[in-house]
Amino acid sequence: MISKYVFGPVPSRRFGSSLGVNPLPRKTCNYSCVYCQLGRAHRLQTGRKEHYHTDEVLADVKRVVGQFGDDIDHITFMGDGEPTLAANLEDMAWGVRDFWNGMMALITNSGSSDRVRLQDNRFHDHAAQSESA
Ligand code: SF4
Repeated sequence: MISKYVFGPVPSRRFGSSLGVNPLPRKTCNYSCVYCQLGRAHRLQTGRKEHYHTDEVLADVKRVVGQFGDDIDHITFMGDGEPTLAANLEDMAWGVRDFWNGMMALITNSGSSDRVRLQDNRFHDHAAQSESA
């Protein structure tokens, strides 16, 4: 299953069967790693911005959870860039909690995660990738 906002569930060594959530457009990132599988960054983004409507993303996640819920171990916010640059990341995470009681994870390069309030239990796992610009 793949759409603009979700992909999977796919097998992950760390997260088991993981449903990925993409909260921003392709190659929206604060880094420009030479090895990035998304290609070169044409424009770096350092500030947070709302790219996709929270309700649209949540509707898609809910639809896929309804279809594959028993096969999902983690809902993982990641996507085609740095997810913490999505200004509504927290709203999306809260929204998922309305219909999903399982594990949630965030994969981040940690470059802007100090601006995101992640200290509560919305995300069970913060997979901080070690990446260099
Ligand atoms: S942090 Fe990740 S998404 Fe961003 S440029 Fe590096 S490899 Fe690509």
